Amino acid sequence: MSEVKTINQGKNFSHASVGCLNGFEGKQFVKDATGATSCEISFGSLPTGAAVPFFHSHKDNEENYIILSGAGKFQVDECVFDVAEGSVVRVSTACDRNLKCTSAEPMTYVCIQAKEGSLGGYTMTDAEITERESLL
Ligand code: ZN
Repeated sequence: MSEVKTINQGKNFSHASVGCLNGFEGKQFVKDATGATSCEISFGSLPTGAAVPFFHSHKDNEENYIILSGAGKFQVDECVFDVAEGSVVRVSTACDRNLKCTSAEPMTYVCIQAKEGSLGGYTMTDAEITERESLL
């Protein structure tokens, strides 16, 4: 299983990595490595035919699942639907969820959990263009 490593940190950032996603196995949570305060991010991978071994729900946090590779089925309470690379699934609080890989290749995904209803400004209602010399 890969491991989340803090690569470097500065006054206003932290950089971590779970490593190469091709071959990633299991589940890794990132918040402790980055010190994130607004959300928890996890990377997960399911081999062919495998589902997460339990259903779960959340009290305060919604979850956004982003399928990075592979394909499968997603279940929210009694509703089942297909997901595949590029799918984004938002799941609200107080409902049961699980996903299963049905593709020949592993299904790799990211899950972002954040407090439901907490998003205020976003994109250009929160951001502003700033002037800085590029050092890239
Ligand atoms: Zn969850």
